[in-house]
Amino acid sequence: MSSLLSIEEALSRVLARTVVLESESVPVAAAAGRFLAEDVGARVDLPPFASSAMDGYAVRADDTPGRLPVVFRIAAGVPAERGLEPGESMAISTGGAVPVGADSVVPIEVVVESDNVLNVPAPVELGANVRPAGGDARAGELVLAAGTRIGAAQIGALAAAGVAEVAVVRRPKVVVLSTGTELRAPGETLEAGQIYESNAPMLAAAFETAGAQVERIGPVADDEGEHRRALAYGLEADVLVSSGGVSVGPHDLVRRILAELGVEEDFWGVAVRPGKPLAFGVRGSTLVFGLPGNPVSSLVGVELFVRPALLALQGAADPGPSYETARLAAPLRRNATRDELARARSRRDAQGTLLEPLTGQESHMIARAAGADALVLVPSGAGELVAGELVRYLPLR
Ligand code: AMP
Ligand code: MG
Repeated sequence: MSSLLSIEEALSRVLARTVVLESESVPVAAAAGRFLAEDVGARVDLPPFASSAMDGYAVRADDTPGRLPVVFRIAAGVPAERGLEPGESMAISTGGAVPVGADSVVPIEVVVESDNVLNVPAPVELGANVRPAGGDARAGELVLAAGTRIGAAQIGALAAAGVAEVAVVRRPKVVVLSTGTELRAPGETLEAGQIYESNAPMLAAAFETAGAQVERIGPVADDEGEHRRALAYGLEADVLVSSGGVSVGPHDLVRRILAELGVEEDFWGVAVRPGKPLAFGVRGSTLVFGLPGNPVSSLVGVELFVRPALLALQGAADPGPSYETARLAAPLRRNATRDELARARSRRDAQGTLLEPLTGQESHMIARAAGADALVLVPSGAGELVAGELVRYLPLR
């Protein structure tokens, strides 16, 4: 592994191979977590008509202060049958349509009504408590741009804008395949030399949060025939992610078998710790990631490369990874040649976010890593990052 790529170089190679998938139409209510395939405009003005922001009385500001007959009672969904004439008022509920002729709403709390006559004691400001038609968005105006991830607020906006169905990019199909003769499923009894298989469920969970449809296969023993069968199956997906077997040992078969199956390797080896022996290639439109087997190494590979690729396949406007900035609570030694992603726990103080590096930074220590909510980027070089220094980190969500 003589020529290691930098993290940035490796990521740009991955993204260069990533083509946005086709789109499909889904009901807005079922679109959470999906990415818009096209710009969406409002079907109607938002609000569709001038409406009242308060329970009160629709008036003409010019008529106030004064005593005004109450000529109609407007409810939400029940507009007035005629316009408001000078010198009149109409009772109106929040969300009711402000009648033609009225320009303001005076709240119920500041007036007195008796015998169908309203007493407005003080002048009302022109336009008070009226939400103009189209004040949120005009019909045809852009509400959400292509590449936006749809969450709760976006579903609300689409529905409010009268949109029933949206075009979203289809979810990538991902096969997650773990390799290693030593691996047993949780729940089974471990024999000598065996460990529990933890990467496949971990990776599957990560990819599902990135919008993928995931199928897990394995664990696959370190045997050529088994590898060939499992990898060939995985290559039918949009993305194949294997764990383990990509290093330099005699039982590391993944890269060779992938090559035999027609995968063109783009790179192998990234100058990052943990996670160096990461392989990436393509066959046709299938992206292939060979992640190292150490659980924390594979987790780092996910955050740096696989998650961005999955988001890019879905047309995300910003596939990330999205670094944030915070202060380091304790020093971190740099590695001479490789950038490091150190596990840390964040906490808040008066100055903002502080990142406390965890003890136990080795790549097999998934139990320690599970206490982290941040991966601190420690750039390669001499010396150390000092306490209080501003650093970049990836939040783990
Ligand atoms: P490998 O990359 O196959 O050389 O594996 C590196 C280390 O990670 C070894 O200690 C493996 O036992 C361990 N490992 C590999 N795959 C998994 C997995 N799916 N779950 C947990 N540990 C694994
Ligand atoms: Mg192995």
